[in-house]
Amino acid sequence: MQQITVVGAGVMGKGIAYSSAISGFKVFLNDISEEALSKAKSDIEKLLSGSAERGFITQEQHDSAVQNLVYTTDLTEAGKDADLVIEAVLEKMDLKIKVFQQLDEICKKDAVLATNTSTMSPTEIAAQTSRPGQVVAMHFFNPVHKMKLIEVIKGLETSEETVAYVRKVTEQLNKEMVEVNEFPGFVTSRMNCLIGNEAMNMLMEGVASAEDIDKAMKLGLNHPMGPLELADLVGLDTRLRNMEYLHATLGEKYRPSPLLVKYVKAGRHGRKSGSGFYDYS
Ligand code: NAD
Repeated sequence: MQQITVVGAGVMGKGIAYSSAISGFKVFLNDISEEALSKAKSDIEKLLSGSAERGFITQEQHDSAVQNLVYTTDLTEAGKDADLVIEAVLEKMDLKIKVFQQLDEICKKDAVLATNTSTMSPTEIAAQTSRPGQVVAMHFFNPVHKMKLIEVIKGLETSEETVAYVRKVTEQLNKEMVEVNEFPGFVTSRMNCLIGNEAMNMLMEGVASAEDIDKAMKLGLNHPMGPLELADLVGLDTRLRNMEYLHATLGEKYRPSPLLVKYVKAGRHGRKSGSGFYDYS
C-alpha cells in the first residue's frame, strides 16, 4: 500500500487526507498544532460517517479509511515511510522551504515531495532540496472531496517520471489533472484571484452589495459560486497572501484590494473564523 503524508492539517490538508484515505492510501496527517490536528480528526471522521450514511462511500471504504489514517505532530514519524508527501502549510515561502528541507532529510530517497501552493514557485522550493527532479506542485481545490481538479505544476527540474507518478496518484484519487509549466499563479489562481479582487474593489466602491455581486456572477455568468463567497471559503488570510505574492511577481494589476487588507486586519478570515464578506455565526 502506498503511503501519502500530508503536512499541515488546515482547510486543505484535512481535505487531501480524507480524499487519500478513501482512495486506498495509508495516510499520515501532520501539523505542528495539536489543536489543528484534533479538529482535523473530528472533521474528517464527521465527513467519513456522513458520506457513508449518504452512500457516497461504502462502509468498507469508511472503515479502512478510519484504520489507515494516522494523526501526528511528529514530522519524522509522518514522513519516514512516505511515498508521496503533500505539503499544505501556510502560503509563506520561507515556511515551505523549511518544511521541504526537513522532509528532504527525513524521507526515503525515492519519495516525491509535492506542494499544494496556490501561487508559489515549486522550482524555488525544489532548489533547496537534494532531489529537485522529485519536487512538483499538486494544487488541490476546496472542498477537496468535491472538486475534481488537481493542477500539476512542473518546476524547471521536475522529471517526467515524477509527473507520471503524480498522474497515477491522481487517477487513484479519482481526480483529473492538468499539466502546467510553472509561472506565478499557474492557470487557476492567476485568473481566480483577479476576479475575486475586482469583486472586492466593486464592493468597496459601492457598485453593488456582496449578495448582488455574487448573484450577478452566478446567474449572469454561470459561475457556480460568487467570487466573494468563494473568497470566504478559501480564507481571506490565505487569499491575501496569494494576492501579495502575485502582486510581487506579476505586478500592479494584482495589488490586493484595500478592503481585503482591512478585513484580514480585523480578523475576518471568512468561513473558518465565522465572518468575512458574509456572517457565518
Ligand atoms: P490553513 O491556515 O487552513 O492551514 C494551514 C495549517 O498549517 C495550520 O493548521 C497550521 O497549524 C499548519 N502549519 C503551519 N506551520 C506548519 C509546520 N511547520 N508543519 C506542519 N503544519 C504547519 O491553510 P489552508 O487554507 O489549508 O492552505 C494551505 C496551503 O494550501 C496554502 O499554501 C494555500 O495557498 C493552499 N491552498 C489553499 C486553498 C484554499 O481554498 N484554502 C486552495 C488551494 C490551495
